[in-house]
Amino acid sequence: MRPFAMCYGGHQFGNWAGQLGDGRAITLGEIQTDNGLFSLQLKGAGPTPYSRSADGLAVLRSSLREYVCSEAMHHLGVPTTRALSLILTGDQVMRDMLYDGHPALEPGAVVCRVAPSFVRFGNFEILTARREIDLLARLADYTIDSWFPEFSHLSSPDRYIQWFAEVSRRTAAMITKWMAVGFVHGVMNTDNMSILGQTIDYGPYGWLEDFDPDWTPNTTDASTRRYRYGQQPAIAQWNLLRLANAIVPLVKETKPLEEILQEFGKQYGELWGSALLHKLGLENCDEVPQEFLGEMEQMLRLTETDMTLFFRYLGKLDPQALDQDSDPIEQISSVYYDYENINSDVRQKINRWLHKYGELTKCCGYSADERKARMNSVNPLYVPRNYLAQLAIDQVERGDTSYLLDWLEVLKNPYTEQSGKEGFATKRPEWARTRVGCSMLSCSS
Ligand code: AMP
Ligand code: MG
Repeated sequence: MRPFAMCYGGHQFGNWAGQLGDGRAITLGEIQTDNGLFSLQLKGAGPTPYSRSADGLAVLRSSLREYVCSEAMHHLGVPTTRALSLILTGDQVMRDMLYDGHPALEPGAVVCRVAPSFVRFGNFEILTARREIDLLARLADYTIDSWFPEFSHLSSPDRYIQWFAEVSRRTAAMITKWMAVGFVHGVMNTDNMSILGQTIDYGPYGWLEDFDPDWTPNTTDASTRRYRYGQQPAIAQWNLLRLANAIVPLVKETKPLEEILQEFGKQYGELWGSALLHKLGLENCDEVPQEFLGEMEQMLRLTETDMTLFFRYLGKLDPQALDQDSDPIEQISSVYYDYENINSDVRQKINRWLHKYGELTKCCGYSADERKARMNSVNPLYVPRNYLAQLAIDQVERGDTSYLLDWLEVLKNPYTEQSGKEGFATKRPEWARTRVGCSMLSCSS
């Protein structure tokens, strides 16, 4: 083995942070499999040349969160790095969980991550920042030849332009999937953006519970909420702009890169529009008014509405029955966090939207059962809700892995209702609203 750590830089929270690098990730090497070449990487196994003043270690809570979420994302169909193993090291690691002057010892852990490559936008940025342009070209060529072979035959600068366009497309596709399942990454710094368009570096991520586009789980980002749910597409584009800047020395002109960045907005818009229609079971309907989708977002924000359950319950609604029902909100009452206290004005608005929805479903041509099956195939029932991760952490810290293992099995089929597993699909209980780890996380890991 020739294990190594990578050198990269990055823009953190909007500012160039200079050199970062794998401070606690050690790539063991690559293995050839039937599905191609994969890198194996240990996260939390100790210091590397890029650890700076930190310890190179990771604690159980963050490692378990990475393991569970990356596996869940894979089964949800979201491009992601994966996790092969999670072990306790037996060592205690000091962490100040909320950066508020209360350091404490926590169990240390190591995750073995797997991906075709762990190269990030920041790997390119650091070389450009240092004017190491020959090395930049070698890294770009290596990246293209290894993971984008479809552009290998092209000569410079076309190969770099086509490659960047592909990275941009993949990033748009990845973000669309995040938005569709309600995932908030939490730290979309350019050092946390995979060149392959995979979700990477699970830290203070979270899942939307009540639909709030302004929500971020990351308390380190509480003041500006730069990485909130609703801003993820714009941030992805901003990050692509940083990558574009980094490869200008290879392309030698900016215009083609600018065009690709423009195109990102259009591509994302189309992908998201289509994803939303599929989530609503209206993909076959060619006259869904744009206002209707806007009204949906407004309606979801009128009162705390569980995003995941909302789309599942919508699939269950029978449009024929909706016609006669003057109060259809009752059929989906479980998706609300405070159903009893919804006032009559809000109730009326939700009912109005549901009636419009019922009307629209008629043009899709599906039977109620078929519509439900189609919607269920894109609207997950089981997502790794923040409070469930905390429950799993609490139990593993007490030495009991059964809950975690049970949950991981359920997450393998997130779109299929599994009998006896209702507990893994339940909306956030009241106690979890303010508990650290459930709704509040920091970068400390
Ligand atoms: P993150 O935003 O968590 O992906 O981390 C940002 C940078 O800090 C990366 O370069 C990490 O490798 C580094 N880092 C985070 N935690 C540690 C740690 N405990 N030891 C060494 N480096 C770390
Ligand atoms: Mg990182």
